[in-house]
Amino acid sequence: MSEKKTILVVEDDQDILSTLKIFLESEDYHTLTAENGFEAMKLMETHSLPNLILLDMKMPVMDGWQFAIEFISKHDHLCPIVVMTAAADAEQRAKDISAIGWVAKPFKLDELLKTIKRFEKQPNAT
Ligand SMILES: [Mg+2]
Repeated sequence: MSEKKTILVVEDDQDILSTLKIFLESEDYHTLTAENGFEAMKLMETHSLPNLILLDMKMPVMDGWQFAIEFISKHDHLCPIVVMTAAADAEQRAKDISAIGWVAKPFKLDELLKTIKRFEKQPNAT
């Protein structure tokens, strides 16, 4: 029996958030969603760490930069983080926060899926 992998999506744009949730669940992922970094940190208090985090950078309350600092200080690099950003300097933003990868908005869903599959942590990996 294979357990579903979990993706945490942190994104303040509700249209993108719900599109990603529907898409990822159709691809047989379990999804957790948060509208900002603060909500995501709260979620991690009550859920197991996900196999991957998809992280928007510009968000109210707690942005992607601050989330990454807090998440990594608490959980080290136990979860791969993939940055989703419209910025032309997507690669630099990923480096800013030690993210493993990035997708530049607007992205195609099949492109995103490839990136997820490339970086997702295996369930039994440490
Ligand atoms: Mg945003």
